[in-house]
Amino acid sequence: MQKLAAIKGMNDILPPDSARWEWLEEVVRSLMRRYGYRAIRTPIVEPTALFVRGLGEVTDIVEKEMYSFEDRLNGEQLTLRPEATAGVVRAVVEHTLLHDGGKRLYYMGPMFRHERPQRGRYRQFHQIGAEAVGFPGAEMDAEIILLAHALWAELGLANVRLELNSLGEPEERKVHRAALIAYLEQHQEALDDDARRRLHSNPLRILDTKNPAMQAVVDAAPRLMDYLGEASRQHLRTVQSILDAAGVAWSINPRLVRGMDYYNLTVFEFVTDELGAQGTICGGGRYDYLIGQMGGRPAPAVGWALGVERVLELLRSQARELPDVRPDAYAVVPDAAALPVVMATLQRLRALGVAVQMHSAAANAQGLGSMKAQLKKADASGARFALIFGADELAAGAVAVKPLRETSAQRPCPLTDVAAWAASLQSPR
Ligand code: ATP
Ligand code: MG
Repeated sequence: MQKLAAIKGMNDILPPDSARWEWLEEVVRSLMRRYGYRAIRTPIVEPTALFVRGLGEVTDIVEKEMYSFEDRLNGEQLTLRPEATAGVVRAVVEHTLLHDGGKRLYYMGPMFRHERPQRGRYRQFHQIGAEAVGFPGAEMDAEIILLAHALWAELGLANVRLELNSLGEPEERKVHRAALIAYLEQHQEALDDDARRRLHSNPLRILDTKNPAMQAVVDAAPRLMDYLGEASRQHLRTVQSILDAAGVAWSINPRLVRGMDYYNLTVFEFVTDELGAQGTICGGGRYDYLIGQMGGRPAPAVGWALGVERVLELLRSQARELPDVRPDAYAVVPDAAALPVVMATLQRLRALGVAVQMHSAAANAQGLGSMKAQLKKADASGARFALIFGADELAAGAVAVKPLRETSAQRPCPLTDVAAWAASLQSPR
């Protein structure tokens, strides 16, 4: 039989690693609550047209990274979402979420892009994103950047830099675009195939190239920053002054253009030098024209998305400790006849908040195994206590609580009043 395996570039997330994921998600939920962002969940599959219209036809994602297919039953063209902003905007428009003012939203979930799998780059990967929809002010760009910055702090992440740029407004980009095309036309010989193809369709995107052979020509290209009008400059200055007041360091990266067409004014990335080529852990910006472009009443918005795998990889490389997943107690069951009492007791303990793992028979073992073997398992589980449901104890209506991490003696605890001692088993979390 052919061996079954996960699709290349799509990973299983297994224990104990999954505990890191859950911990990260918890930190995010708690932070989002404090900043007033509320969860939105949109479908993983959307009509292909949503992404073509939302992201722009001449983008890496739409040109070559989308998992698109035809629904066999009705012939619809569908795509596994490569990012979530387009879906969030669709939902905002479809449900007229802005009827009573702006909305602060966040999401987490899998995204799909057909890329060459490598460290920090997968075909199914996960993003967490925040979107502030319906807010025009530069203070919201700052708020959403401060939110991401606070997340790094709460996760204990170090060495993350903030890079900023402004893409200005469409009119300003038009003038810059003409200058950029003229410049690039003079340097045709230095351009790769992608760049040559995009020279007239999407020249700004050429600045986003990862091709080292093109760095020099791109570095000397006309800077969009030099084409911005006073309002765009002021918008960026406002963001910068709020970040300064909050003590968040930033630097301008004039080459930062982002991979999607929908951005204007502020764009930003959080980058690290510790992940090799995949150094961007979070990117975002303002997208004031997307909602109108998607058929909604025009409304401004700003957002970001972070790559969960990259953030976790960075945490791992910075040797962040694993969150504690050890049980409080481990139930030792010398005799299978006691199982009904044992399980009824554990049920009550868990309802009272105790994390207790029950010993259970291994597939290749005879019965539950000796007391000694079970105590060894209890120890290996990392639990602080073993709960020994021995015949003598049960006859006396009790369970023996044996500390595993300290030398104090084992003590009997009554089965009739579990609530009286349940709390004494719990470790602070
Ligand atoms: P890159 O330049 O690395 O391809 P991107 O500009 O395509 O990134 P975005 O679309 O802005 O990335 O997505 C936001 C974040 O999602 C990225 O900063 C990154 O952390 C993460 N990300 C993007 N693509 C992948 C992928 N294929 N695998 C893992 N994480 C990814
Ligand atoms: Mg990409």
